[in-house]
Amino acid sequence: MKMVTNRYRRRKRVRPRIVILGTGGTIAGTAAFNTAAGYISGKVGIEAMVAAVPGLDALADVRGEQIANVGSQDMSFAIMIRLAHRINDLFSAGAADGIVVTHGTDTMEETAHFLNLTVKSRKPVVMTGAMRPSTAISADGPLNLYNAVAVAADPRAEGRGVLVVMNDRIHGAHSLTKTNTTSVETFLSPINGLIGTVIYGKADYFRRPFRRHTYRSEFSVEGGTVLPRVDILYACADMPADLIDCSVERGAKGIVIAGDGNGNMNAATLSTAAAVSAKGIVIVRSSRVPTGTVTRNVEVNDDQTGFLVSDELNPAKARILLMLALSKRRSLAELQQLYYTY
Ligand code: ASP
Repeated sequence: MKMVTNRYRRRKRVRPRIVILGTGGTIAGTAAFNTAAGYISGKVGIEAMVAAVPGLDALADVRGEQIANVGSQDMSFAIMIRLAHRINDLFSAGAADGIVVTHGTDTMEETAHFLNLTVKSRKPVVMTGAMRPSTAISADGPLNLYNAVAVAADPRAEGRGVLVVMNDRIHGAHSLTKTNTTSVETFLSPINGLIGTVIYGKADYFRRPFRRHTYRSEFSVEGGTVLPRVDILYACADMPADLIDCSVERGAKGIVIAGDGNGNMNAATLSTAAAVSAKGIVIVRSSRVPTGTVTRNVEVNDDQTGFLVSDELNPAKARILLMLALSKRRSLAELQQLYYTY
């Protein structure tokens, strides 16, 4: 009897300690009835969400903390910074073996990218969410949360940067993007592909991210983070060039152009962008096209205009990298190199 108790204790002690940080989103959303299309994000607290997932206890020693409770359309840098601090503190205090962040899907890729640049640990940080609210028929949140905890508890997930687990897929923060407004199969990793898959808690890993992240990142939220304003302007046929002037007048230190094709923009926007670039505003050419890299000096002379290209990063992620990068004095060549490194 004594031996059984000791073995039980030993087994309990080795269960990985997973902290789930709740921030809201559809996974925490409720609707008036279970086929309602309309719902409100960020209604269910993290404790209730954890209680709704059978079998979590067998995977790990799980506890929840509420960091925020918002639809991720309302995600802010203040919340992202709080999240990064909490994750760094939990790991440096040795209080967690892995962390899961529940989050809305709308801006999940932005928070994932931000954390990928500012978390200082090799330990797993896994984000998850849901496309259907907790009250829906076939709500996808509980299985996503189960799979996210399984990956966060798995030592093989270490050193792969911030991961996103949704719909049985494991994505890397650098690559993933939301591609469908309503489907549960919304996240894809179009350029570099999946990190792995996870089926009812059993994970397979295919690759490690190619770009620098987390414990090797030079970016940090320590010492007070004041992020400069960087705007995104969406290029289109006959784009009004004075949008650039508006951004600069409002205090933008950088502008990311969600360009057409390979980061293009019309001649009027090009010449206004070149004029503000000459005055020290950083212009980054990204693309409104969902997949493909933006390459230097193809249809635009970047060397002459002083523009940067975002390489593989979409406009939202290119903006976050620039905001963090502008917190320190860097040459244009150094800034460009960051887009090839992260
Ligand atoms: N608007 C929601 C959010 O991002 C959508 C979702 O979570 O799927 O919070």
